[in-house]
Amino acid sequence: MTRTILIIEDETDILNLIEWHLRAEKYTVLTASDGLKGLDTAIRQLPDLIVLDLMLPGMDGLEICKTLKRNPKTEHIPVIMLTAKGEEVDRIVGLELGADDYMVKPFSPRELTLRVRAVLKRTDISPAEEKSIQYQNLRMDLDSHRVWVGENEIVLTVTEFKLLIELIQNRGRVRTRDQLLDRVWGYQFDGYARTVDTHVRRLRQKLGEEHADAVETVRGIGYRFREN
Ligand code: CA
Repeated sequence: MTRTILIIEDETDILNLIEWHLRAEKYTVLTASDGLKGLDTAIRQLPDLIVLDLMLPGMDGLEICKTLKRNPKTEHIPVIMLTAKGEEVDRIVGLELGADDYMVKPFSPRELTLRVRAVLKRTDISPAEEKSIQYQNLRMDLDSHRVWVGENEIVLTVTEFKLLIELIQNRGRVRTRDQLLDRVWGYQFDGYARTVDTHVRRLRQKLGEEHADAVETVRGIGYRFREN
């Protein structure tokens, strides 16, 4: 089945470059160079993924992302946000608004293609159907709440277990501290970000040398489980 990807980008050179690379990977590609047209195309065509530039004429990327995530027809469509260097704050906001990943310009089109593939693969799996998770020699059984590294079982608290699931199911993708608090602890308040750091530290210790650095720190934002 071919997947359809919508690119919303006003810089023609970048748009053409991404389009070329995605077509080479056999994706069906739709394009828009203006925010409003892009949003309209997204709603009418319901693509499988959207590559969305942040600064756009008509309507900017954040507004588009917000609108898509508020619409039940489009809320499930994953978004990869493109930002220029120095748009640090917007980058974080972008993730909080529900973008699934982001890339900072200039980026390699090949890297973007890999991210597209990873995001599509991730959204293919329905978490409800997943009974176990395997990452290299790390194995999680979701029914019995048990975790093994190779032959050795590691004992995690319920919170650590949930944290690991959330990170590993979203591997390759940054989770902000707020997202983690919301998903793992079920609440979001200012000042609790440290709680996440403490649990991540303990989780790394328990995972042992082999996997400790699979949980990467994304400075100023949150954490990401390494893809692979
Ligand atoms: Ca732009």
